[in-house]
Amino acid sequence: MLNIGGIELHLINDGFVMVDGGGAFGLVPRVLWERVIEPDELNRVPMSLLCLLLRAEGKNILVDTGIGNRLNEKQRRIWGISRPQGGLLDGLARIGLAPEDVDIVINTHLHSDHCGGNTCYDADGRVIPTFPNAEYWVQRLEYADACFPNERTRATYIADNFRPLEATGQLRLIDGDVQVVKGVRCVVTRGHTRAHQSVIIGSDGEYALLVADMASYAANFERLAWLTAYDVEPLVNLETKRNWQRWAQEHDALLIFEHDTQRPTGKLRGHGKGMKVEPVEVPWT
Ligand SMILES: [Zn+2]
Repeated sequence: MLNIGGIELHLINDGFVMVDGGGAFGLVPRVLWERVIEPDELNRVPMSLLCLLLRAEGKNILVDTGIGNRLNEKQRRIWGISRPQGGLLDGLARIGLAPEDVDIVINTHLHSDHCGGNTCYDADGRVIPTFPNAEYWVQRLEYADACFPNERTRATYIADNFRPLEATGQLRLIDGDVQVVKGVRCVVTRGHTRAHQSVIIGSDGEYALLVADMASYAANFERLAWLTAYDVEPLVNLETKRNWQRWAQEHDALLIFEHDTQRPTGKLRGHGKGMKVEPVEVPWT
């Protein structure tokens, strides 16, 4: 647990998955990225599925919900999922929270590894919201892109992860940068998707930034050209990263990388090609 500018912050991992290194590092030659993250014999690299639980103004705010519990046997095998600490709900239980206690869910975007836990099966096998009392905050443009995917994006935009929220009236569509509560702010960080958002936590000179998939790994944030193959607007994301690199240094912000198993939290130091995310040890819940 951390306290950033008066806000309680818990890092909860929904699990680890294995993904193709070519997906994570796009056009970057393997001889370069394998020095940073070692692939297995199938060319896969490990990815964590970190979620954030924030407590502010008496509210429990969850940012991203991991990959969730609705995967079938084949999907679990493809993702190579492992959960040594249990999943998101186990992590919430460790801090004394039941699904009913979550007031707000923020999805950084609607790729299936960030919103799979939005919904679950009920006893009759119907898909229902996992957090019955929560309002789910999603960028309006992201929701539109997810509801009307194309051939490139449809594998990751799975309607059961977000459509049921609309049916129960729990979906809150937001437009652009918004303050959620004092000290918690969604900011659009375009590039990975057209309306991808990151989350700033804190105030009065003490800040954390949940980077989300603007940069999946710390290495993607250090190097502007290290873009994932999943970025739908890679050159836009490159410029987004340039702006937020500057912001991170100006604010000495603690950076949180949802997928980085080696450096999930750190601060950006140095300049130009010498930029480096120096790890800051933060225990996971
Ligand atoms: Zn992701």
